[in-house]
Amino acid sequence: MALLQHVSFVPLARAMRSRSLTLASSTVAVPSLEKASQVDSRVLLGMSEKELQQLALDFGQQSYRGKQLHHLLYKRKVKEIQDFSHLPLAFRNDLQAAGWRVGRSAVYKAVTASDGTVKLLIKLEDNRLVETVGIPVEDDKGAVRLTACVSSQVGCPLRCSFCATGMGGFSRNLKSYEIVEQVLAIEELFKKRVTNVVFMGMGEPMLNMKEVLGAHRCLNKDVQIGQRMMTISTVGVPNTIKKLASHKLQSTLALSLHAPNQKVREQIVPSAKSYPLDAIMKDCRDYFLETSRRVSFEYTLLAGVNDAVEHAIELADLIQEWGPGYHVNLIPFNPIEGSEYRRPYKKAVLAFSAALESRKITVSVRQTRGLDASAACGQLRNEFQKSPLLPDSDDVQSQLGIAVAC
Ligand code: SF4
Repeated sequence: MALLQHVSFVPLARAMRSRSLTLASSTVAVPSLEKASQVDSRVLLGMSEKELQQLALDFGQQSYRGKQLHHLLYKRKVKEIQDFSHLPLAFRNDLQAAGWRVGRSAVYKAVTASDGTVKLLIKLEDNRLVETVGIPVEDDKGAVRLTACVSSQVGCPLRCSFCATGMGGFSRNLKSYEIVEQVLAIEELFKKRVTNVVFMGMGEPMLNMKEVLGAHRCLNKDVQIGQRMMTISTVGVPNTIKKLASHKLQSTLALSLHAPNQKVREQIVPSAKSYPLDAIMKDCRDYFLETSRRVSFEYTLLAGVNDAVEHAIELADLIQEWGPGYHVNLIPFNPIEGSEYRRPYKKAVLAFSAALESRKITVSVRQTRGLDASAACGQLRNEFQKSPLLPDSDDVQSQLGIAVAC
């Protein structure tokens, strides 16, 4: 039974407050009204220390104010400009008057599973909801790793047949700062640093590569999460893996394969029609050669569809044909409402895994975390947002008949 923990509703009017403030009585040069009206680009979160220093200079402040801004955003995680108590009031007022805002959103709902996994629904400024998951894992030495699984889009247009996010439709790409804030929200909730980030939440990261790369940079340089601690996943979008490889990130690429051949793959992943398996495998090999970072193949096991030992043998042959540096991560299907797929029996999972290992393929079986917390990607969002856009109201609770506990 899911435990509902943190729920907050923040009026949209508050998120928009900065637009209506008047200019404080200050003598510094303030950007023109025309520029000030482009409020969407005036978000502090996601900016580097250098950019923040330049911003401070632009507002007639000394550059060390930029460093303070950086500290307030990424270390102290302050959400409102008026709460930047280290900064002069006039500077804060000027920032707000020019349309700047921090770019943090409210946590709309949090559900905690019995194993400690927490799934958050974050309510964006335009009322859309995105999921992010915090997964604490204790290693052999007793140290706790905290992984944030972040979304890159609101919904997803690719509609993989087993995926709750795909079923929920697509609204829009997320901005870099909307990805970064998911990690900060997890850190706040757990009161500890996130150690690993996986871009495996809602959406296809390669369809939003610019913003994903922006978030990756910020998480690495500003939030200080090592590149090697991050994984970018894709189900395969033509011409994007090569492009990603050219950035030479020291992060793992996780390719959602889900099938050992083109025919089965097309049944499960409709978008596979436009990206033949051989082309994907070649691009994955090139990613490995370019970055020296291993490629991990994600394989969702669907009972009676792709979980036979013959499929494992075919998968091993495919992987061996394309060379070293590969790993297979098996994911027993998490049942979702409205799907006919079934979860495979443990026996089938073990047989599949053994068949790969006996052919010298390194393999791990993903532990199902938070099954009682609507664990499948997109599942929680779908419960609360049947259509991609919520009504323009904060009274979502009563409109959707949601029972919540604060
Ligand atoms: S599995 Fe990934 S790519 Fe496929 S529909 Fe779901 S979110 Fe999109």
